[in-house]
Amino acid sequence: MARAFNFSAGPATLPEPVLHQAQQELLEWGGERASVMELSHRGKAFEAMAAQAEVDLRELLQVPDNYRVLFLQGGATQHFAQVPMNLATPGQSADYVVTGAWSSKAVGEAQHFVQTHIAASSEADGFRSIPPRAQWQLREDAAYVHIASNETIHGVEFHETPDTGAVPLVADMSSNILSRPLDVSRYGLIYAGAQKNIGPAGLVIMIVRQDLLERTAGRVPRIFDYAAHAAENSMLNTPPTFAWYLAGLVFQWLKAQGGLAAIAQANDRKAATLYAAIDASGGFYRNEVDPAARSRMNVPFVLHDARLDALFLQESNAAGLLALKGHRVLGGMRASIYNAMPQEGVDALVAFMRDFAQRHG
Ligand SMILES: *Cc1c(COP(=O)(O)O)cnc(C)c1O
Repeated sequence: MARAFNFSAGPATLPEPVLHQAQQELLEWGGERASVMELSHRGKAFEAMAAQAEVDLRELLQVPDNYRVLFLQGGATQHFAQVPMNLATPGQSADYVVTGAWSSKAVGEAQHFVQTHIAASSEADGFRSIPPRAQWQLREDAAYVHIASNETIHGVEFHETPDTGAVPLVADMSSNILSRPLDVSRYGLIYAGAQKNIGPAGLVIMIVRQDLLERTAGRVPRIFDYAAHAAENSMLNTPPTFAWYLAGLVFQWLKAQGGLAAIAQANDRKAATLYAAIDASGGFYRNEVDPAARSRMNVPFVLHDARLDALFLQESNAAGLLALKGHRVLGGMRASIYNAMPQEGVDALVAFMRDFAQRHG
């Protein structure tokens, strides 16, 4: 069986050269006569690899020196709960901007610990836009402002970093981190589950401004305390070693592609190709997200007749285009086109969509 183009929202497709390298090194890695999975995270070889992965990530994102990079576990969902524990005191208030399913879930977890204040929401328009910054009702005494920079389910993305003044901006970037250059200094804390745009599930990358680590003052259990993880270089307990290694390979692959400016260009082109095909289909396919807020990573679309959905999925799968079924919340289709999806994959999808529309239009 040949590898197909995999449009899964996550866990998602990984760069083929990275998988080949991992395969080649699976039994014997780095002269250690064992797999990287079988080695102590406290060993010299693993520590060197781990440090290099951080160096490469810092280089890619131009992370300023006053930020720590953490390699954590728990998925983004755990950090929906853990961010408030670390950045606020119990009962303090925090501002949330709600633009889709994930930022809504972030509120749901946070409200066990902080008073969540919805500073803006696009729920009224079905999460098809980003509320203009001028309409946000931010509070000066908020512990932080939380956004999801890309809504993986609703296909809505921030294309500008909102200004939150002196209140730290916190962003769940699970589904668009490393997809384009980023001014990290505009954020207090960035976190991302790895399984969309970085590597295998089980790893969370966090970039946090050093001074914010002082907010817990030892108040939370060490295992939940970002400051404790930072003090131990993300080795407070056993980290997800294989995921860390694979993320490191992905960072090197990104550098070899020409870094984030180059990958951003490729991502823009892929997204433009797919949206153009949807918009030119004469209503056979529709994406109803405000064009100014359309995601470059996750493209949800519906067919003009939902009775064709099953056939579309069956035929696309047979044509080597995997996992196009939309999230159950929205129905229809969704094509996730992260960094590792090549232009050829999008071209193949668009060709299939045209052909399908011709046969069923
Ligand atoms: C996938 C995703 C999550 C949840 O990740 P888990 O690893 O399942 O906890 C959170 N936020 C965004 C934006 C996501 O895409």
